[in-house]
Amino acid sequence: MPHDTPLISTIVGGLVLAFIFGAIAHRLRMPPLVGYLIAGVLVGPHTPGYVADQSLAPELAEIGVILLMFGVGLHFSLKDLLSVRGIAVPGAIVQIAFATLLGWGLGAFMGWPTGGSLVFGLALSVASTVVLLKALQERRLVETERGRIAVGWLIVEDLAMVLALVLIPAAASIGGEGHGPVEPLSAGLNRLLGLDLGVGGMIAMTLVKVVLFVALMLVFGRKLIPWTMHRIAHTGSRELFRLGVLAIALGVAFGAAKLFGVSLALGAFFAGMVLAESELSHRAAQESLPLRDAFAVLFFVSVGMLFDPNILIDKPLPILATIFIIVIGKSVAALLIVLAFKKPLGTALTISASLGQIGEFSFILAALGVELGLLPEEGRDLILAGAIISIVLNPLLFFLCDRLRPLLEGTKREEATAEPAPATDAAIAQQQLPAEDDDVHPTALNGHAILIGYGRVGKIVGQNLKSSGTPFLVIEDSDKRIGELKAQGIEAFMGNAVARETLDLANLSTARSLAIAIPNAFEACRIAEQARSVNPSILIVARAHSDAEVDELKQYGADTVIMGEREIALGMVDRLAQVHHESVPYEDRHEPDTIIPTGTAPPEKE
Ligand code: AMP
Repeated sequence: MPHDTPLISTIVGGLVLAFIFGAIAHRLRMPPLVGYLIAGVLVGPHTPGYVADQSLAPELAEIGVILLMFGVGLHFSLKDLLSVRGIAVPGAIVQIAFATLLGWGLGAFMGWPTGGSLVFGLALSVASTVVLLKALQERRLVETERGRIAVGWLIVEDLAMVLALVLIPAAASIGGEGHGPVEPLSAGLNRLLGLDLGVGGMIAMTLVKVVLFVALMLVFGRKLIPWTMHRIAHTGSRELFRLGVLAIALGVAFGAAKLFGVSLALGAFFAGMVLAESELSHRAAQESLPLRDAFAVLFFVSVGMLFDPNILIDKPLPILATIFIIVIGKSVAALLIVLAFKKPLGTALTISASLGQIGEFSFILAALGVELGLLPEEGRDLILAGAIISIVLNPLLFFLCDRLRPLLEGTKREEATAEPAPATDAAIAQQQLPAEDDDVHPTALNGHAILIGYGRVGKIVGQNLKSSGTPFLVIEDSDKRIGELKAQGIEAFMGNAVARETLDLANLSTARSLAIAIPNAFEACRIAEQARSVNPSILIVARAHSDAEVDELKQYGADTVIMGEREIALGMVDRLAQVHHESVPYEDRHEPDTIIPTGTAPPEKE
């Protein structure tokens, strides 16, 4: 490997090793991110062998953060964001205060100066965007109410950290505790102003800049960005569209950070949010997906690189205390706060699990603390070790919450019936959303049909089942669709149908048929496989988009697989035959195991 190409070697080394260890982790039934972190430790400076560039890796990881937040913004409208402010703002503030207090306590116990202990506490209080979003995405929770609260919470934390990064250097210079260079992270304007203004002025200036950025995005960006994307979409060039998506996500994020001192993540979130209401948002999300995933992997590699395994031997007790604060202290605080807002237990557990880790902002705070001479190096090492261990423990935390829920549920439900929630904004918003899983009971249906997915395909199937009077239920993972279903009086369960718990609610063992109307064949195979093992005689009808998918679905137990593209072709043949007065014999058009489409409802525009 030539040593004058650090960027290439960092990307290649990071991705190749992450792939190898990710695959091994998957094989061992561990989350792949454990593999990515190990790859990072291996290319890091603390282990022998190849060492990746230590300044490039975190920069590459930032691109992952930008694309992730952009993707989340694409699923978020301003209304969604405002609907969770009632809980996200106080929740995040109280949790930051609580975690900072705990961290400060540990710092004081270790004999660090007050300023250092506070920086340490703050670093432990802020969750990692990448870890949180990955966890929510894997569980398909981003578009649920609890997902929205978690993302809103994250955004408040992000804003608080933008303020903290400006305030800490100022406070250090006033308090005279530090000895290092006093320089705010958001350079340029801030530094200039910092000379003239006091702390109050700096806070005000930072807030003004954030507000200015948000206002600009909501007034001009909201028109300009969708307009640009529509123009590009009309060129018909997929390549240009893809490029446009990247240019907007990265460009706005970078501009926001450089000009307005807003974090890259926040800038990207707003870039996505102004596109969310456009019908192109779905395509934009798809186009940024592959790059987003690749760079998110590099985030974990760059975290792994910072880790020095020796610390586990040198300072086991302080590490344990740090992890306790991150994983238990923060989670319990979040849990209590969410429950205090009378949210269901499932929501509270998901939010607290998703926040029980730390990441990128903590590293930035730690680095700043050390640079200013506030935080001893020992503190930074503890933060790094705490981050990597809490990230590894995070999937476990989600697992534990899933287990804990049924145990705690009984008492919670009693409380809920005894005491109706007051009609606050948050409660009203909650009523408009589908009920969370907490009060879900398995269906009472027998001999029924189960329909998975209620999109372009599932909707037509569902309407047919409804009009023919067939007893059926739907499993869907988008809460908007669940809302539609409930409004029509159709029994529906929210969740990813791949999850066994969701399938169990549908009473598979006594169902007569299962229609898998989702586009992802990989997931459809997992569903067919589970259904077949529970109910050997159920009729399974599935949807596919290629011959290979048809074969695979049949292998996993589907009886009949409808290949979308083939049915489209047949529809065209039918129409052409009418015009040309040709009659195509039925047996020539349909394989014995395909079904004639019954409804002629027009396809819905996504
Ligand atoms: P369409 O491709 O328009 O037919 O939409 C597919 C529908 O299936 C969408 O409404 C998705 O939310 C839903 N969907 C996709 N995957 C799953 C899944 N694994 N579990 C439940 N619903 C799903």
